Amino acid sequence: KPIQRNEYGSSLGAKRIRKSHVKPIDPQGWPERYPAKELCSKCGLCETSFVTQVKDACAFLGPGMARIDEMEKKIHGRQRDAQSLFATDKADEARFGVLHEPIRLAKGNKIDGAQWTGVVTGIALSMLESKNVDAVVCIANSDSIGNGSNFASPEPILARTTADVLKGRGVKPALAPSLRVLDQIQNDPTIRRLLFCGVGCAVQAFRAIQSDLDLEEVYVLGTNCADNSPTPEAARNFISEGVQIDSNIISDVQGYEFMQDFQVHVKSKEAYVTKPYFTLPGTIAEASIAKSCRACFDYTNALADVVVGYMGAPLDGSGQAARMDKSSQTLTIRNERGAEMVDIALKASRLNLGERAVGDGSHEAMASATVASDAIVSAMVGNAVPEKGMPGWLGQIMAFGMQRLGPKGINFAKYSIDYHILRNYLFVLKTKGDLESAMMALPQNARDIVKYYHENDKEFASLVSK
Ligand code: SF4
Ligand code: SF4
Repeated sequence: KPIQRNEYGSSLGAKRIRKSHVKPIDPQGWPERYPAKELCSKCGLCETSFVTQVKDACAFLGPGMARIDEMEKKIHGRQRDAQSLFATDKADEARFGVLHEPIRLAKGNKIDGAQWTGVVTGIALSMLESKNVDAVVCIANSDSIGNGSNFASPEPILARTTADVLKGRGVKPALAPSLRVLDQIQNDPTIRRLLFCGVGCAVQAFRAIQSDLDLEEVYVLGTNCADNSPTPEAARNFISEGVQIDSNIISDVQGYEFMQDFQVHVKSKEAYVTKPYFTLPGTIAEASIAKSCRACFDYTNALADVVVGYMGAPLDGSGQAARMDKSSQTLTIRNERGAEMVDIALKASRLNLGERAVGDGSHEAMASATVASDAIVSAMVGNAVPEKGMPGWLGQIMAFGMQRLGPKGINFAKYSIDYHILRNYLFVLKTKGDLESAMMALPQNARDIVKYYHENDKEFASLVSK
């Protein structure tokens, strides 16, 4: 039976509206009153009536992210090829997840004010403007919705217009409750086709309850994600106390990223500042990285239809010209639905596709060395955490040398994935107390990576036994 639609393209069919008397958890009670306690990534599910499904949906309760293995089959029709971990003749699905086609470079087109060049915003706009969806769930900065004036204050919105989607531009480096709008979606009969944009932990929870929303079509656009700040204040503190940028531009900061040239890039309205990683004080890490993100094994957003990231893309330009808002990103298409979204964005001229993402250089030794010198790991094993970073000149030399000698392109992304999996495994091991329970919270690919380093890298093996 053909679906009847109104003038905006929304379905006129009856939607199952769910009456619920469940009381959501008050956000003021975070994290103590949330089921995952200090490991809660504030994904927003518990702030809705869907809190009743938290045990099966939360990425940090029960088997947690180990559920990804089964869910991949359900969402993409197959599980990633686990045999590809160290094979040179296969696409590295073990690290990057199910690949419908090889990872490509991409840039947004005609999107001003984006954090990068607007790949995510471009795809979301195309989906809405072409009427393929009735609404888009995205995260806006609270500044853009008149609900505050500070950088890094993420607020979920249910975008229905181009102007709404554009509020989602820019960086949100603090935990974001994307699922807080679930009841709104559930109770709005005009929303039958939805695009959900989110990070891995939010996508995992969304996938678990997706069928209860009684939607006709669901598309999921993910971003790669690691090491978010627990709160907007922590993100702002990182900029002022960690990166220590000039106090006269702090109030104008629009975004920051840890980039593939081993520097933190900070973008403000008037200036673009870079600081080598090595100049940051080790002590800033504890307050700047949420505990959920130390227990996370879904950097690559395994369950989204299409994923946008940047670690596997080369930084375009050099010196002052090498900026995040001028550089390519990576586009990982996981299934037919993801391919359809990219196609729609290409037809709308919102996206430019580049070459296949490639890389070179070995990454394992550097991943292991980074774990061994990591401030969070040092604190866990009782080693001293440096209160000061390297002097600027030495940090610049280090960043330059690492960039020249270290892994590049997609191999840099492999380095970053391995480093985060190893560090987070050590954190989970410390939290759960024994090897067996720690392993149970990991998806298969993370277990395989941990096992490989444990067997082949003495330094990592010694950290596991501490
Ligand atoms: Fe609830 Fe999400 Fe926190 Fe889990 S991560 S406890 S689902 S808000
Ligand atoms: Fe969620 Fe993981 Fe991103 Fe943290 S790093 S916000 S836990 S996806």
